[in-house]
Amino acid sequence: MFRHDIIIVGGGLAGLRAALAAKSADVAVISKVHPLRSHSVSAQGGINAALAKNDRWEDHAFDTIKGSDYLADQDAVEVLCREAPERVIEMEHWGTLFSRVDGRIAQRPFGGAGYPRTAYAEDRTGHHLLHTMYEQALKNGIKVYSEWLVTRLVVDNGRCAGVVGYNIASGEIAGFQAKAVIFATGGYGRIYKRSTNSVINTGFGCAVAYRGGVALEDMEFVQFHPTTLYGTNILITEGARGEGGFLMNRNRERFMQRYSPHMLELAPRDIVARAIQTEINEGRGFEGGFVNLELMHIGERNIKERLPGIRQIAIDFANIDPIEKPIPVQPGQHYSMGGIASDKTCGTAVQGFYACGECSCVSVHGANRLGGNSLLETVLFGKIAGENAKDYAKTKDFEAPAAIENAVKGESDMISELLNRKEGEAFYTIRDELRAVMDENVGIFRDEQNLKAASEKLSELKSRFRSVYVRNKGTVFNQELVNALELEGMLDIGQVICLGALARRESRGSHYRTDYPARDDKNWLRHTLAMFTPDGPQIEYKPVNITMYQPKAREY
Ligand SMILES: Cc1cc2nc3c(=O)[nH]c(=O)nc-3n(C[C@H](O)[C@H](O)[C@H](O)COP(=O)(O)OP(=O)(O)OC[C@H]3O[C@@H](n4cnc5c(N)ncnc54)[C@H](O)[C@@H]3O)c2cc1C
Repeated sequence: MFRHDIIIVGGGLAGLRAALAAKSADVAVISKVHPLRSHSVSAQGGINAALAKNDRWEDHAFDTIKGSDYLADQDAVEVLCREAPERVIEMEHWGTLFSRVDGRIAQRPFGGAGYPRTAYAEDRTGHHLLHTMYEQALKNGIKVYSEWLVTRLVVDNGRCAGVVGYNIASGEIAGFQAKAVIFATGGYGRIYKRSTNSVINTGFGCAVAYRGGVALEDMEFVQFHPTTLYGTNILITEGARGEGGFLMNRNRERFMQRYSPHMLELAPRDIVARAIQTEINEGRGFEGGFVNLELMHIGERNIKERLPGIRQIAIDFANIDPIEKPIPVQPGQHYSMGGIASDKTCGTAVQGFYACGECSCVSVHGANRLGGNSLLETVLFGKIAGENAKDYAKTKDFEAPAAIENAVKGESDMISELLNRKEGEAFYTIRDELRAVMDENVGIFRDEQNLKAASEKLSELKSRFRSVYVRNKGTVFNQELVNALELEGMLDIGQVICLGALARRESRGSHYRTDYPARDDKNWLRHTLAMFTPDGPQIEYKPVNITMYQPKAREY
């Protein structure tokens, strides 16, 4: 058994930032991949902060709350926006090479923002930030267990006691005893077929917390990014529109004029994604289902200086140079607004268990996240989670070695049973059917009939999962086994999203019900909470914290 004061699961921006904040304690990071392979590395467009003299954190907060369709907890948004400049400048001092204009950190316009507030490092902001953060982790001697998959959260008498991990490289199963545990396990995009997320983004961390007895919050709010490359769904950053890109339908009409007359292409993501999908559904898209993103008019120099990554992606994956031709784009799953129910201290209902970054629901994004706010959330709430876990751990002792040993035995038995099966269904047929039904029935436009059909399909997939069969019996990098283990969690997450969406009879932010197209504050200005039970999720609700801005109609 391994013992540390604080265990952090996740080596992305949130997890590493938490580790740095807790570094005076005995802290260790567990990650299923090398930290630099975490999805944070692929963030493109930038990170928000009211850095400029004539910008204000209150305006940033207002944009965020309005963007969230008033579902964000405003006390948490206050923390996010007030501390944002300090966190971005800290990253700069630690070594992130932000792009610059007149010697100052450059900032570009982003969707739903009333001011050009998104600081960037070309269009590879996540790459630069994560490398800086990892350098800091190395410099401070943070212990990292790479290629360990955490499969179980151990809770004893309402207190978190540690986790169980499976060593992907060797097949070893071990307990990690800790006084406090932080999950920073990222998003769940890969339960959809069309997604901008890395293949590792299965949401398994959220599922482990859920099975461990922690509620998942607002999971029905799934962000679809308006512009993903047609064919592969690789992200084409909002920064491309921030730099002046136009969206055009097959009639060469700049159709956003009809959907958002003031903000056009820079309306929030839920609005632009629905607009593009409507153009496609009503026959004004191109054959196959896409519209064009035109950058030619912003010029070769701007494209090469500010969007070099996007240009390279378009050349490599679509054989198109955006200096000469438009990029074909369509909406795709992009971000998980929901997650592990946590408050603005990153604490949860389980003592000693914290969550931060994309896997958490603090909630600062509510029903729709503004681009650039997520990188900010990772570095800011990562720090808060690390500090609070450290303070908590100081006051506690290790208490539950027996609970950890039991959990290790449970996981070992479960994995042996899976590997000893002689026949059954391969994980990938179940996984592919999950992704197809999520795309088709639980996507941008939803209604009761489709959600009910999806819910039935998910029950069927869950029962088929009970006879999943793993052919590879090896212990070294048995990726088939890892996929099968994670699939159970993906089915849990799909079910929670689907049932939350079915129950919520209104449209708000990213959750659009064609049978209930209006927002309904009277009945639905509240957060959804899903608790695990063996018979499926139990759904409850909790109020939204409103401190600064009363809900108003959301127009752009
Ligand atoms: C293509 C793309 C571009 C983006 N661009 C932007 C942008 O420009 N601006 C912005 O604000 N946001 C952007 N986002 C969103 C933002 O990048 C992410 O929300 C953020 O980086 C998530 O960071 P994180 O630390 O929470 O999780 P991640 O970086 O996803 O890290 C998760 C970590 O958890 C580990 N892990 C997960 N489960 C387990 C387990 N069971 N056991 C062990 N380890 C586990 C993984 O190994 C990984 O280290 C973008 C997202 C994508 C997909």
